[in-house]
Amino acid sequence: MNQNKKPQALYVHVPFCRSICFYCDFCHRFYQEKEADAWLQALQKEILHYFVNPELRTVYIGGGTPTALSAAQLDSLLRLLDPYTKNVREYTIEINPETLDENKASILAEHGISRASIGLQTADDKLLRKIGRHHTSADVAEAVRLLKDHGIDNISLDLMYSLPDQNMASLRESIRFALSLQPKHLSLYSLTVEENTVFGRKGITPLDEDTEADMYEEICRILPQAGYRQYEISNFALPGYESLHNLVYWHYEDFYGLSAGASGMEDHCRYDKPSNLSEYLNDPLKRDVIPLSKEDEMFETVMMGLRLKDGIFLQDFQNRFGMSFSQAFGAPAEKLLDEGKLQITDGKLKCADAYYHLLNSVLSDLLPV
Ligand code: SF4
Repeated sequence: MNQNKKPQALYVHVPFCRSICFYCDFCHRFYQEKEADAWLQALQKEILHYFVNPELRTVYIGGGTPTALSAAQLDSLLRLLDPYTKNVREYTIEINPETLDENKASILAEHGISRASIGLQTADDKLLRKIGRHHTSADVAEAVRLLKDHGIDNISLDLMYSLPDQNMASLRESIRFALSLQPKHLSLYSLTVEENTVFGRKGITPLDEDTEADMYEEICRILPQAGYRQYEISNFALPGYESLHNLVYWHYEDFYGLSAGASGMEDHCRYDKPSNLSEYLNDPLKRDVIPLSKEDEMFETVMMGLRLKDGIFLQDFQNRFGMSFSQAFGAPAEKLLDEGKLQITDGKLKCADAYYHLLNSVLSDLLPV
């Protein structure tokens, strides 16, 4: 934690999309120019009200689709953030390939964006249409080219697996295609279907659990062979390109969350901004604040930290909470260590490799009763 206790990470949520993916449960609305203008004004009010540590280390603009904004609006958004991004070590924006063009790539570069996270999802264009994506794999290659031409070469690609009709050959081809674009980082997520999505309403389901587990195993086999270290359950990076911003979440450090649909964590409280855009526009300062007890924080520190391959430094846990991991979690922790599901190596608590993909069930044994 930083000395002045102010968060060093900022997340800004852009709640607009140009189209809606069939599996999507995020906070988004169809882009409308006037509404996006009103949103920028609301965000300005929010930024000026709270603000915000000028010594931020990481800024992450997510969504939604940040690049769904017009070029002028994207420029306005980045201008609002300029005073806080001069010294950041990592400045990320999420991109949907069909919403990026030469002009927008140049605006991103002018404002110092250093990292782009692009939704590829799959290299199978038929499957992309089936999941409601409005780009092709060639569009992704073009977006990567545009960004690199403008000096943004720290690129992360998102891929999905366990998609309807996807098979192992299709997954391998998607990984091969992704690697051909030479990203620095890859995030791989299995499809989950929530009720309030197009897939949920149509009764579409992911592949069966065994196939999903086989696909995960294949991902974890192929990517390290290509030089990408798995540093988190769903994330792989070339050495030195782990996401600094996401590490803030996994290290359970405080972060600011701005705009409709964002969450933040500050000073032993978590807060959620309204997910409804109209509610946010009416009152950009509105937050639902949830105080976190010491027990909440200890559990969540372990829950987030064990997602990392490197696990948790036990001394850090002790320094933060004034008690050891064993004192905090007692007999259930000892049982998990005895069973070999958790391991302590070199002062770090980790989930054993064989149980890594079952982390949630391991963690459920530590839940406060
Ligand atoms: S997945 Fe991303 S781009 Fe697709 S609808 Fe959801 S927020 Fe928008």
